[in-house]
Amino acid sequence: MDTDVLVVGAGPTGMTLANELLVAGVSTVLVDKLPQRSDLSRAGGMQSRTLEALDQRGLLEPLLATGDHPVIDGHFAGIPLPAHLARHRLPWRSVPQVVIEGFFEEHLAAHGIHVRRDHELVGLAQDADKVTATFAHGATVRARYLVAADGAHSTVRSLLRAGFPGRPGTSTVVAADVRLSGADPLMSHTWSDDGHWAAVFPLGTDPQGRPLRRLALGGPGRSVPRVVPVTEEEIRDGLRMVFGSRVHLLELRYARRITDAARQVEQYRHGRVFLTGDAAHVHLPLGAQGMNTGMQDALNLGWKLGAAVHGWAPENLLETYHRERHPVGAAVLRNVQAQSLLMDWAGTRDPDVAALREIFTAMVQLPDVRDSLADMLSGMAIRYPMPGTETHPLVGRPAPDMDLLGLARLHELLRSGRGVLLDPADRFAKVAALWSDRVDRVGQGADTEPMLIRPDGYVCWAGSPDGSTHDLERALGCWFGAPR
Ligand SMILES: Cc1cc2nc3c(=O)[nH]c(=O)nc-3n(C[C@H](O)[C@H](O)[C@H](O)COP(=O)(O)OP(=O)(O)OC[C@H]3O[C@@H](n4cnc5c(N)ncnc54)[C@H](O)[C@@H]3O)c2cc1C
Repeated sequence: MDTDVLVVGAGPTGMTLANELLVAGVSTVLVDKLPQRSDLSRAGGMQSRTLEALDQRGLLEPLLATGDHPVIDGHFAGIPLPAHLARHRLPWRSVPQVVIEGFFEEHLAAHGIHVRRDHELVGLAQDADKVTATFAHGATVRARYLVAADGAHSTVRSLLRAGFPGRPGTSTVVAADVRLSGADPLMSHTWSDDGHWAAVFPLGTDPQGRPLRRLALGGPGRSVPRVVPVTEEEIRDGLRMVFGSRVHLLELRYARRITDAARQVEQYRHGRVFLTGDAAHVHLPLGAQGMNTGMQDALNLGWKLGAAVHGWAPENLLETYHRERHPVGAAVLRNVQAQSLLMDWAGTRDPDVAALREIFTAMVQLPDVRDSLADMLSGMAIRYPMPGTETHPLVGRPAPDMDLLGLARLHELLRSGRGVLLDPADRFAKVAALWSDRVDRVGQGADTEPMLIRPDGYVCWAGSPDGSTHDLERALGCWFGAPR
C-alpha cells in the first residue's frame, strides 16, 4: 500500500480532510490535477460551525490573522439576518476561498503533506483491501481508502457511475468581483420595481487596501448561457437597473455566470471510496453553504477514516458518514431551492412570489424565526441521528463551547483529534480508563453535566452525574470501539 488514504482534489474540502487525517495520524496523499493552486474567486463567506470546527483544531486564529476578515451579516433569500442578533459565539466571517486554500496548503506542507499537483485521476479500481487510482501521466497510487473531493464535475463520481439525481440548471446570473463607488450597498440585496436584483457582499481588500465586493446580478433577460463571456457593459447596465446613478463600477476584476443546477449523489459511500464536497452535492451559492458544507463533510469523515486505519473503528462507523451527512446535504439543497424561489432568482416578476416574500420578510423580524434561520444557515442547527437523541437534547448536536472552570475551553481539548469525556463528578474514571488511548477524560473542574464528545466536536452521549455507567459504556463502544 502506498498510503492509507488518497484524497483526490485539493480544494477546501480535500484540504480540510487532509488536515483531519494529519490530526488522526494516518498517512495521506493529496493530489490535484491543476499544476498550481486555482485563483478562481468563489466562496467568500465562512459560517459559524466551520469557524468553530477550525477553532477546535487551533487553526482559526492563524487563519483570521492572514488579513482583514470582517464579521458579515447573514441573509435568507436576501432578507438580512444581522450578525449582532445571532446567538453564535463565532458569527459569519468574510474569508475568501483562495485565502482558505492558500492557508491550508501552507499549513499542510509545514506538516509534511505536500499537494501532488499535475495528478489528474483518470482510472479507479477497488477490491476488498484497497483502491488503485491511475493518473493521466500513467502513475498509480494504492490506498486503503480513497476520498473524492474533486468538485462538481467529479471524475471519481463518473467512474463509479454514482447516481447524481436532481435538476439541471435552467437559468444563470452573473457573479463578479468588483470595486464599487457611490453609496456602496454592503451586504444587501436590492430589487428594482421591474424585477432586477443585485446582491453585494464584502470580499476583503485588494493589495492597495481598497475594499472588494462580490456582486451578483439577476433579473428578466439576464439569464444567458454560461459559456457567453460577461462584459463590463453588462455589469454597468445591471447596476444602473437596480441602483440608478447611486452606484458605479470602478473596477471589474473577475466575472462568471452561475447556474441553478441542484443535484446530490444517492450514496456518499461506494465500498472504499467516499464522496465529499461538491463531488457529492451542487447547488446555488446562496447563503454561503457550498464550501462550508464540503468542509464539514470532511470534518465528519476524517476521524472515522482515522479510526478505520488504526483498526479501532466499531462496525458501521464508516456507514455513519452517509447516514449523517446525506440528510445535511439534502436539507441545504432544499433551503437553497426555497431561497431562489423567494428571492425571484430567475427574475420572473411573479406577483405571487412578491406577496410571499413580503410576508416572509415580516416574519423574519420575529426573533424565533430569525434565530431558527440563522441556526440553519450557520450549520449550528445540525443534529446527527444517533442513539440517545430521543432522550437528551444535546446528543447529536455540536458540543457547546464552555470554559471548563479555567482549565481550558472545551474546544481546546479537541485539538488532539481525540474524543473527550466531561466527567464533573469524577464518576466515570474507571470506565473511561478502558478507552484512555482514544478518549481524554476531564474530571473535576468541568462545570457541566457529563457528556461524551466525538473528535469532530459532536456530543454522542450525555447523562446525569448520578446515572449508571451502562449507557456511557455502550456509547464509548458504539463510537470508539472495543475497550483496551
Ligand atoms: C461565485 C461563487 C460563489 C460562491 N460562494 C460561496 C460562499 O460564499 N460560501 C460557500 O460555502 N460556498 C460558496 N461557493 C461554492 C464553493 O465555491 C464550492 O462549494 C467549493 O469550491 C467546493 O469545494 P470542493 O473542495 O468540494 O471542490 P472544488 O473547490 O471544486 O475543488 C475540487 C478540486 O479537485 C480538483 N480535481 C478535479 N478533478 C480532478 C481529477 N480528475 N484529478 C485530480 N484532481 C481533480 C480540481 O482541480 C479542484 O482543485 C461559491 C461558488 C461560486 C461559483
